[in-house]
Amino acid sequence: MSRPAIPREIKRAVLIEAGHRCAIQTCKYPAVDVHHIIPWEKTKDHNYDNLIALCPNCHRRADRGEIDRKSLRMYKAQLSASIGEHAVVTNQEYYIINESQEGHPGYEFEFKVPRFVDPDLRVVEDYFRTLGNRLLHEHRNYHYLLEPLDIEFTMGPNLTTGSFEIMWLTSLLVSIKYRIYEYGSGAMHGNGKSITRTYLRDPVQHLDLKHLFNSEDYLLILSKLTREALLQDGGRDEFWVRGGTEPLEKNFASFNLVSGGLLLTFDEYVVDCYAAGPQVIEISWGKLKDIMNPRLLFLSSQSLG
Ligand SMILES: [Zn+2]
Repeated sequence: MSRPAIPREIKRAVLIEAGHRCAIQTCKYPAVDVHHIIPWEKTKDHNYDNLIALCPNCHRRADRGEIDRKSLRMYKAQLSASIGEHAVVTNQEYYIINESQEGHPGYEFEFKVPRFVDPDLRVVEDYFRTLGNRLLHEHRNYHYLLEPLDIEFTMGPNLTTGSFEIMWLTSLLVSIKYRIYEYGSGAMHGNGKSITRTYLRDPVQHLDLKHLFNSEDYLLILSKLTREALLQDGGRDEFWVRGGTEPLEKNFASFNLVSGGLLLTFDEYVVDCYAAGPQVIEISWGKLKDIMNPRLLFLSSQSLG
């Protein structure tokens, strides 16, 4: 079987995932090739999850095995964890909850917990440390007790990563977005999901979506606004978009407040295909003004300052 070219959409998605730069964070060289993590000769296909953008130098090192498959999977997982464009704090301190298993190179858990200096935000830190530890226990149970650990048999790593971005941080509010990525051995591809938390400060209070609005119709309004935005830039399947934006609480559970307004994240498969990655829609304060909880209207004026 001769090797067909990588389909153009898949190649584009792989390049976009890496920002058209080498996927190795410390390299980031701007000229890139698309590399097969498991060689094409073995898989005989161009699956998005098996492809990574590498510069010619890193590509050679990967071909020689100096950068092994597990490392490439980790680099790729880090790409899908980075959701950078809206983040306001890029140098946030964190510590890592991690675990690996001696002799089982496929077993990897890594979860970042933000470390806050301000005393009121310690409770936020506690929340995420607890979340990280809970995910670690799930990871152990699933990958250690239920799954074979031998990477040679299973082809894929048993990987869970969690990384976060601070989407907005002021003296009155903090809004955080997590990206959890899991890759189970034998799975066709990894599984990404977003977890978001927004808190008012002084005193710290967790905000649910419903707290943001004074109108009973907020789900209908969010549904309408996100449908318009998602269908506007074309290329999406209308049926798919409608399903993922039905006026149900769960469809809008991943939200952040950012300086521009309300940011909604739709995970893979919700409004678009897996290769498209998570989709993000921002609704400006101006569009929200009339339906917002009057007690939170100060947030929109804060963003001007
Ligand atoms: Zn490179």
